[in-house]
Amino acid sequence: MDQSLRKAIAILEDLGEIHYVDRPVDPLYEIGAVMSLKSRGPSQVFSNVRGYSMPVAGNLFNSRAKIALGMGVAPERLQEACLQAINEGIAPEMTEEAPVQECFFESPLDLKRMLPVPTWFEQELGPYITAGIIVAKDPETGRRNVSIARLRLEGGDALLAGISPSHHLSRLMEKAQARGEELPIAVVIGNHPAVLLASQMYVELGHDEFDIAGALLEEPLRLTRCRTVDLEVPAEAEIVLEGVLYPGDLKDEGPVSEFHGFYEHYGPGQAVRIRAVTHRKDPIFQTILPGFAPEHLLLGGVAIGATTCNALRKVIPSVRRVLVTEGGMGRVHAVITLKEPRAGEGKRAILLAMAHTNLLKFVIAVDDEIDPEDPIQVAWALAARMQGDRDVFILPGMKADRCDPMERDLMITKVGIDATTAPGERGPEAKYQPVHPPREVLEAVRKDLDLY
Ligand code: MN
Repeated sequence: MDQSLRKAIAILEDLGEIHYVDRPVDPLYEIGAVMSLKSRGPSQVFSNVRGYSMPVAGNLFNSRAKIALGMGVAPERLQEACLQAINEGIAPEMTEEAPVQECFFESPLDLKRMLPVPTWFEQELGPYITAGIIVAKDPETGRRNVSIARLRLEGGDALLAGISPSHHLSRLMEKAQARGEELPIAVVIGNHPAVLLASQMYVELGHDEFDIAGALLEEPLRLTRCRTVDLEVPAEAEIVLEGVLYPGDLKDEGPVSEFHGFYEHYGPGQAVRIRAVTHRKDPIFQTILPGFAPEHLLLGGVAIGATTCNALRKVIPSVRRVLVTEGGMGRVHAVITLKEPRAGEGKRAILLAMAHTNLLKFVIAVDDEIDPEDPIQVAWALAARMQGDRDVFILPGMKADRCDPMERDLMITKVGIDATTAPGERGPEAKYQPVHPPREVLEAVRKDLDLY
């Protein structure tokens, strides 16, 4: 099958989910402003970017349904598809047929002239590539890692990479530094949603995210060799920047946006130099609106939910889904559904989720007849099932992620609520019985509902 971003865009276009913006737009703040104001609903393809011939696409996978449909997966199967892909990866295969290498450029490179990279927010100090997956290899084991980090254009062939210290790329960088080496990287822009989603999975170091992408595609991801570095990249991507990351070479990044919608001051970023650029003849420049924006929250949130669910199910078989909510920044709030949990199992699942995924700080457990994607149903479960003194528990002094806006000295208070049905409150012996019309009437009407 076609493994390109443009294929996914064509699928969304058929569903009426792509809006072409023909009006001239400026990459300096204007694209960011349009994407902020239209972050939900149809995605944008800006075909007339001032100073560039390359179109800019954004807000492409800004709902769970669009992430799934873009990959050719039924939306209700999204988490199952992720779980299967984590556990049963499909290794990539190599190809010489690489549309992403139709055009080749070497130094001197002026990335700012070549690429329509948006400058997003008032206080950020330059344009940021936000949808570039970074491919690198472990200098000790040769195992591949694929992840996203923000990359700021610094003029000419220079970039500044903002890499979270908890991410694998930081570990690879430290290993390279210990050996006195640079770290070759390839930044791939314009990716199929299976590749983007795979890059966000919280799997162990050495687990190749391209194996996960292959399983999501249900066939090996086709890779091609880079021209100037010893790395392989998706052959059907839009643009590749081949270069080197210099571990010791740091520069203060200034204020940067984060998923919570505030500026952060993380300190130094890593210097990167790009040696070569390859792209298609007519490349699409893909972006993800950073900050508290649906696509940014959901690509991470879907992956965090799937990896957390995978860990939970290994110990608690009654766990059905883990949903990291969009309101909870796609990172810090989760709803776990369980099928007829035993006494105390809801609380156990909550504790495991918080321990497994450091970012999670507010976790609610509900029965599996609650749709965790529906905030009204989750609120109903709280109203119908929660006894405050029994079901709410507060855990002060827990380790925090540095990204959490409530972190103080890297500590935080976590809160869990077990809103599953308590034993004795379920079944025919329960004090409160649910109301409904007679089952046989309900089922008969449901079968022919379209006729009413
Ligand atoms: Mn990794």
